[in-house]
Formats: sequence, structure tokens, C-alpha cells
Amino acid sequence: MEFLRPATWEEALAVKAQHPAAVPIAGGTDVMVELNLDRRRPEALLDLNRIRELHEWQIEDDGTVLLGASVPYARIIDALHDRLPGLALGAHTVGSPQIRNRGSVGGNLGGASPAGDAHPPLLASGANVEVASVRGTRLIPIDDFYLGVKRNAMEPDELIRAVHIPSAGGPQQFAKVGTRNAMVIAVCSFAVALHPDTRTVRTGIGSAAPTPRRALEAEAFIAAELADTGLWDNGGELPVATAKRFGELVARAAAPIDDVRGSAAYRRHALAVMARRTLLWTWNDHRTIGRAAA
Ligand SMILES: Cc1cc2nc3c(=O)[nH]c(=O)nc-3n(C[C@H](O)[C@H](O)[C@H](O)COP(=O)(O)OP(=O)(O)OC[C@H]3O[C@@H](n4cnc5c(N)ncnc54)[C@H](O)[C@@H]3O)c2cc1C
Repeated sequence: MEFLRPATWEEALAVKAQHPAAVPIAGGTDVMVELNLDRRRPEALLDLNRIRELHEWQIEDDGTVLLGASVPYARIIDALHDRLPGLALGAHTVGSPQIRNRGSVGGNLGGASPAGDAHPPLLASGANVEVASVRGTRLIPIDDFYLGVKRNAMEPDELIRAVHIPSAGGPQQFAKVGTRNAMVIAVCSFAVALHPDTRTVRTGIGSAAPTPRRALEAEAFIAAELADTGLWDNGGELPVATAKRFGELVARAAAPIDDVRGSAAYRRHALAVMARRTLLWTWNDHRTIGRAAA
């Protein structure tokens, strides 16, 4: 197996153009498992660990976080939890401290597993994935990134440079059901983000369909309810029945299967519960802390 180790981003793109079948390796927490278990024997590995900018982030003037593809979850939790609370909550649930010190959002996106914990918060935030090749750079809206089970919208010669994530303009939540409390792949997961500036609510469903996906009908329902009842203006309590209906619509947006981790019926039930609870938590934070600070 060839081991390719570019020192710069430009070199990495050139190497990927020459060796499109080379498998990029960042933290290696997915790639090394596949190699060790002999599930994959690539002809070449493309080690991205020497490329400094992939390990860094910066904040744009409009508050967008440009998160380098290889920034590990532990640093997101420590340094970006105030700007990206949903992603930080999701990152908290990934693996163990060792995995969170190596694993990255770029690696989660590269693998595109429906169970990846970064995906629901990225969907709820409205992120864009910056991918590049020697042909140029493009921004892929997160809604268009996931194409199928472990398939994403990248071309073979492309690499993920960064993820552009708007800083949270309102409360965000993430919830995950697993067979135990830590070191567990999601049976299903859910993220919600309130966007008071646009008076919208975005969602992300994980591990309950072939790809991570949004619950669009639920989003439209809650946006209309909040507008029609004047709740964005008066900061009133969200009726439990409204949150319950939101949960039902989130469950309806899923397309889960029965597998070793859980049944389809259980996944739908759990999603409805997580969506109802997280919506109430975010709304309560918005009407108390968020509105008081504004
Ligand atoms: C014990 C254990 C527990 C885990 N628990 C969880 C969990 O709870 N939740 C969860 O979501 N995941 C979990 N994982 C999976 C893994 O940690 C995550 O998917 C992590 O985000 C992978 O990041 P990485 O940097 O290690 O990726 P790598 O293993 O380096 O790469 C993963 C994939 O992304 C590609 N890739 C990496 N960087 C780029 C790039 N810049 N451009 C293009 N492609 C790229 C690789 O080619 C590969 O296909 C666990 C893994 C282990 C071993």
C-alpha cells in the first residue's frame, strides 16, 4: 500500500488528482478500523495530518465559523461550544475522549454514515461543505451533501477543506438514543436549531433513514405555529400539544429500518420524544435567556 503524505493543501490536491482512488486519512478513527478489520485494502492512503490549515478554524465577519476539516471534536467542545452549541453537544456524545481527540467533522462527512453525530447539527445549522480539487473550490449546501448510505456528493478528486457553519443565532439542541450512555453509535439522533433572525426552525435526523435528513414538514408546521400565535413577538410558552405534533411530524419524516441496534418502530417513537423535548428546551431557552439578552 502506498502512503502519500503531502505537506501542503496544494500538494494534497495535486496528489489526489494523480491518485483519485487514494483514501484520505485524517483522525483515522474510521479508516484505521476498516484497515484493521480488513474491510478495506486501498492501494494508497493520503495522510492529511501535516496540513496545518485543516486543523484550524476562523470566524468570518458575519459570524460564520470556517471549521477546518480535521479539527477534532474535543477542540470543538472546548473552543466553539458557545458559537456552535448543537455541534458541540453532538461532539460530546462521540465515542470516548480518545476518539474525540482524533475524530473530526471532516471524517464524519467523508464517511457519510447515516449514524454520524455531526450530521444532524450541521443540517439544523444550515452548514455548507467546502470541497476542493485542482479544478477549483465549491461550496456544497449540507442539504445536498448526503446522497445515500455512506455516499456523499464529492467527486473522486475532491477533498474537504472546511465546513462553513453559521454561528448560532438562537438555542440549539442535540439528543441521541443509544444502547448505553457512552461509546455508542446512535440508534437514532435528532438536532434542532431556532433561528430567531429568520423566524425559522431547522432540524436534523440521524440514523433513521438512508441518509441524515431534515424533517421539512415539521419545520414548516412549527414556523407557521410560531408566526400565527405571535410567540416570536410575545415570548409566550409553547403549548405542549404543539411540541407533540412537531415530534409526530419529525417521526413521520424518518424512514428507519429494523437492524441490530433497534427496530424501525422504536426509532420513530424515540424521534418523536426527542423532537418534542428538544423543541421545548430550545423554546424555553429562547424565551428566557435569549430574549432577555437581546
Ligand atoms: C470506538 C469508536 C467509537 C466511535 N463513536 C462514534 C460516535 O459515537 N459517533 C460518531 O459519529 N462516530 C463515531 N465513531 C466514528 C468516527 O470516530 C467518526 O466518524 C469521526 O468523525 C471520523 O473522523 P476521523 O477524522 O477519524 O476520520 P477518518 O477515519 O480519518 O476518515 C473517515 C472518512 O472520511 C474521509 N476523510 C477524512 N478527511 C477527509 C477530507 N478532508 N476530505 C475528504 N475525505 C476525508 C476518509 O477517507 C474516510 O472515508 C467511532 C469510532 C470508533 C473507533
